[in-house]
Amino acid sequence: MAALDTNRELAAAEQDLLLARIRGGVWLVLIAIAVFAAGEATLNRGYLLPLYALKAVELATLAGIVLALRHPAGRRNAVAVALTGAIVFCLTTVAGATVAGDASTPPLIFVVLTMALATLLPWGLVPQLAVVGVATLAVVWNTQAVHGSLRPLLGYPAATMVVAFGASLYVAREFQRYREERARVELELRLARAAAEAASRAKSAFLANMSHEIRTPMNGIVGMTRLTLDTELDGEQREYLEMVRTSADALLAVINDILDFSKVEAGKLDVVEAPFALRDCIGDTMKALAVRAHEKGIELGWSVDEAIPDGLVGDAGRLRQVLTNLVGNGIKFTSRGEVVVEARRADSESGDDTVEVAITVRDTGIGIAPGVQEQIFEAFEQADASVSRSFGGTGLGLAISKRLVELMGGRIGVASAPGVGSAFTFTVRCRRLPAGALAPVAELAAPQTTAAVDDDACGLRVLVAEDNVVNQRLVARLLERRGHAPVVVENGREALAALASGGFDLVLMDVQMPVLDGFAATRLLRERERGSGGHLPVIAMTAHAMSGDRERCLAAGMDAYVPKPVDPEHLYAAIAELLSGWSGYRAAP
Ligand code: ADP
Repeated sequence: MAALDTNRELAAAEQDLLLARIRGGVWLVLIAIAVFAAGEATLNRGYLLPLYALKAVELATLAGIVLALRHPAGRRNAVAVALTGAIVFCLTTVAGATVAGDASTPPLIFVVLTMALATLLPWGLVPQLAVVGVATLAVVWNTQAVHGSLRPLLGYPAATMVVAFGASLYVAREFQRYREERARVELELRLARAAAEAASRAKSAFLANMSHEIRTPMNGIVGMTRLTLDTELDGEQREYLEMVRTSADALLAVINDILDFSKVEAGKLDVVEAPFALRDCIGDTMKALAVRAHEKGIELGWSVDEAIPDGLVGDAGRLRQVLTNLVGNGIKFTSRGEVVVEARRADSESGDDTVEVAITVRDTGIGIAPGVQEQIFEAFEQADASVSRSFGGTGLGLAISKRLVELMGGRIGVASAPGVGSAFTFTVRCRRLPAGALAPVAELAAPQTTAAVDDDACGLRVLVAEDNVVNQRLVARLLERRGHAPVVVENGREALAALASGGFDLVLMDVQMPVLDGFAATRLLRERERGSGGHLPVIAMTAHAMSGDRERCLAAGMDAYVPKPVDPEHLYAAIAELLSGWSGYRAAP
């Protein structure tokens, strides 16, 4: 497919070149006709009438060439058009010379003509051979007509013509070979590039698959560890299990980075637009990082310039991801002092309905040497290999952040002094939400762990659609602990069958399932409800790194989602909020 396209493109480029040359040639011939006409004015007046008649034929031929090249059919057969023109000129030239009794000019003109055609027109050996043949015959006829014999041609004139015509054939053939060779090389390059791109795509797909395969059992480890931590344990067991949980969380973070990065590489990472509140977004992010900072004895602070409206439209999730990365790095590379986030307005206030926000994350940490400040935004780059050993990390965070920021229409950069601290600044361009529009707009988001939720709803019949056995156990157990009664099914089709018999208060729906996935199952459920009335709350369970999941959940008719690995607090908060009748987790109309 790629090869075919390449060939077609090359042929088209060659055709364009040919057309351009023919058009240039037409002008050259026009000038030549004018020059010869000036010379002919000095000739015997008796010759002028037939000579000018021949000029008229030549001019008509030129006009014919120009007109033919305007027509698609003419353009397709440009070689034939050029060949016809060249032959007509051979014949009119000879006819004119014969009328004037001149047998010495045509050989000269044809020597020049054949060389010019061979070097200027990329038309190859066969048309060139045709012109040389016609020119030879024309010269023979001209000599015979003027001198009554071919004798004057013998010797130098014939030798000159043989050398020149032969050379023109050689040049035309070599040019043709050269063009074919170039076409072949270009084709190979193109194929090599396509192969490299395919390999890169395959690698990204492999990475994404692997990450998914690793993530599923990891979810099991994290979830079951959490469950066990909630049972009765002695001090030692608890300590070891806490370590298991910390390690699993760290491993999950690395896997998420790799998955995101493989998506960056595959060009599959995208940002979604939804209304969000900037101050909440920054505040929530900082809250989530507070524990880490507190453990190291580092101050965390943040401020948002008053000139920034609170209601914006953009990708809050991705913004949070970048911010988490930068603040996380700040905490990681600072041993004493503070990490401060400051959001300023970066454009003039009077502008259109977009707002450019500049967010600076400043720390008082180890700083970054000037020589590597550019490099750290590349994948796998770390300022100092020895630093990475003492601090850990994959070197992917900043590369992902940079790409995310660029996708959100911004830039990212760093100012830093070793031993003093670093300041990472990035900008994002968001649309401004009309005043007052934020409040009623639903933001289908995972609830924060920090949200204190009183889950007074209990004894619910909950349908759990989930194919992974460990997750089934985990979610069922979490529900039972709150006094709910879970019923577990394996896939979307079974879920629909179970729901048909009724009696459920809530559905927990895995998104990725065999037979019928969670999106399709929910869509069918909503369709069924349209006939029968009612609205059974559906909470999606999705892998957090799947960008665009939120929109897909909404579109499929889901009401909320909890990220995997399912965190007990997230799950309880989602259930409580959904059942308390608060519409924030429902799809906006
Ligand atoms: P990781 O932190 O996983 O190594 P990143 O891409 O987030 O990967 O960062 C790349 C490198 O940039 C880090 O290894 C570190 O050398 C340097 N770096 C990033 N942030 C800071 C910071 N706030 N202070 C000092 N060095 C930093």
